[in-house]
Amino acid sequence: MTVNIRIIVLIWGEDMYFLSQEERKHLLKGYLPRSREVDIAEELRGWNWNEPPLVPIYDIKLPLYEIANKYCDTGRDVYLKRVENVKVQPNTDMITGSAFHGILVSFIVKAKKLIYNLGVDEYTKIFDELKVPDYNALESQNSLLDATAYESIKSKARLIWEYEYAQAVGRIQDVLARQPYVGEDSLISLALPVIVEQKLDGSFLGLSRYLSADAFTLSEPMVVDLKFGPKKDFHRLTTTGYALVMESVFEFPVNVGCIVYGYFKNNRLIIEKDFHIIDDELRQWFIEQRDDRMRMIYESMDPGVSENCYDSCPYYGVCH
Ligand code: SF4
Repeated sequence: MTVNIRIIVLIWGEDMYFLSQEERKHLLKGYLPRSREVDIAEELRGWNWNEPPLVPIYDIKLPLYEIANKYCDTGRDVYLKRVENVKVQPNTDMITGSAFHGILVSFIVKAKKLIYNLGVDEYTKIFDELKVPDYNALESQNSLLDATAYESIKSKARLIWEYEYAQAVGRIQDVLARQPYVGEDSLISLALPVIVEQKLDGSFLGLSRYLSADAFTLSEPMVVDLKFGPKKDFHRLTTTGYALVMESVFEFPVNVGCIVYGYFKNNRLIIEKDFHIIDDELRQWFIEQRDDRMRMIYESMDPGVSENCYDSCPYYGVCH
């Protein structure tokens, strides 16, 4: 099972959330021009949320992951949760995902706080203090894990922190070198153009009013999602769902998505990116998936046990 780490909407930079020089070139010279040439059917743009096929057919609000996640291919996990009110403990993958997301959020918040509190001129002190990981985000997961699993997550979280640290220091130094009169607010907007846990109202499309997006910069928009675990074709449903929500809220087109995959290998953090155009096919798939899930809940239809259950499914004990 892949660990989901919500969504980010951004464009520039060079850490996990952002793009390398080469990726930026691919995006600027390849995906963005191509995405502008792709004809997206007008009725599949998020701003047409009040017309079919986007208008929600049931008065149900779903979190985006309950539509986009297809780890259970019959959707029985959503049925058990929403119709039968079955409560389960999150599995290790979910806890890990939450912990890794927490460490990224902590890093960005700490970096911004240090810049505001210490000021631009104290940048060496900022770097010294930022180097120390803040593991508070992991503490809340501690009670759900055994000691070995917790230590394993902590050591990987340290790798993420160190990676983010190295990239952030590079970006801050670059801005300081180019902009001798830069102030704190401007330094943050140039070097750390990320808003963590930005809230988006997905209600126009029958989604939760409290969707959370990790970052948002003003440029040509691209939806980015960060995941830890094997690639799945349905991961693109998450970027598609957020693109539709952004179009419904902000009324500008969102044509490109990117899924960032993080892996750990030989004590290293490996990052791969899957860029894709959010085309009609993905948009239709998302809407069909939303309508199927809503119908299942509204009509209390048990979709049955999957033939491809995975061992770590939190509902395994309920279904088997
Ligand atoms: S145990 Fe199988 S059928 Fe039940 S929710 Fe999990 S994947 Fe779906």
